[in-house]
Amino acid sequence: MPVLKKLFAPFIHAIDSDYFPAGAEKVQGMPERFELSRAIPFIILHLGCLGVIWTGWSWAAVITAVVLYFTRMFAVTAIYHRYFCHRAYHTSRITQFLFALFGLTAVQRGPLWWASVHRHHHRHSDDEHDVHSPGMKGFLWSHIGWLTSSRNFPTDYDRVKDLAKYPELVFLNRFDLIGPALLFAGLYGFGAALEAFAPGLGTSPWQMVIWGFFISTTVLFHATCTINSLTHCFGKKRFDTGDDSRNSLLLALLTLGEGWHNNHHHFQASARQGFYWWEIDISYYVIRTLGALGLVWNIKGVPARVYSESVVNESAPQ
Ligand SMILES: [Zn+2]
Ligand SMILES: [Zn+2]
Repeated sequence: MPVLKKLFAPFIHAIDSDYFPAGAEKVQGMPERFELSRAIPFIILHLGCLGVIWTGWSWAAVITAVVLYFTRMFAVTAIYHRYFCHRAYHTSRITQFLFALFGLTAVQRGPLWWASVHRHHHRHSDDEHDVHSPGMKGFLWSHIGWLTSSRNFPTDYDRVKDLAKYPELVFLNRFDLIGPALLFAGLYGFGAALEAFAPGLGTSPWQMVIWGFFISTTVLFHATCTINSLTHCFGKKRFDTGDDSRNSLLLALLTLGEGWHNNHHHFQASARQGFYWWEIDISYYVIRTLGALGLVWNIKGVPARVYSESVVNESAPQ
């Protein structure tokens, strides 16, 4: 029944990210354009923040939002980016699965999709094929616009063959809604438990959802997007990378180390993006801590030769 299939397709697709009735290749060949239907989830995410008008605030809810911002930023930078995209350190298969599950709660789709888009960005940094280059396509498009274009939605599994060999990762990538659903339900339950057992904290299930899910995720989303937009516009260039990537302390603090983007574009394999001790890189410190605990290993550093490739006079390591 083609009519029924068409009617239900958006709902099936919302649950199954790999559901493309006409084929993923056809979607990838669609024009690069803003699509309102693709923008709706982002509109809901932002409008959800206005729920604070009705729920108000409490210290418990605000602290939860801040904790979730930083822990999930770690999931985006240290796990999605440095582990899944760049394989900058190793871990066990079970930890890899738990990392991926944790990453889903950042509400930035699945790890294989994230990695496939990001690897494409490194391959085509700031050329006409880069899906989020501010220089080529404008600031707003690089920040959020590209996420509303259907052609950027299918996961290019050819680009992540090293990850796609793990069926459990493909499963999580396909049903990435699991992460946001768990986060939403967990926050509602947490708020209900605090309301029942610690009424003095003055929180409620919906207040916890508004702060922990909507506000925290919206801020996390924009902070992550600054690495696609702002770090290709503002900051200093240490290396001649042939693209617009730059280093920014402010963005490094906001994103737990990702602001050292020019460093990263120059040498992508390193788990460390702040190349000097004064380049604060919280994700790297946590990765090193996980290494000391034996949870991750083979943490890749920056070879001495890389420092000497600096175009500014700053070649002494550490
Ligand atoms: Zn970049
Ligand atoms: Zn990268």
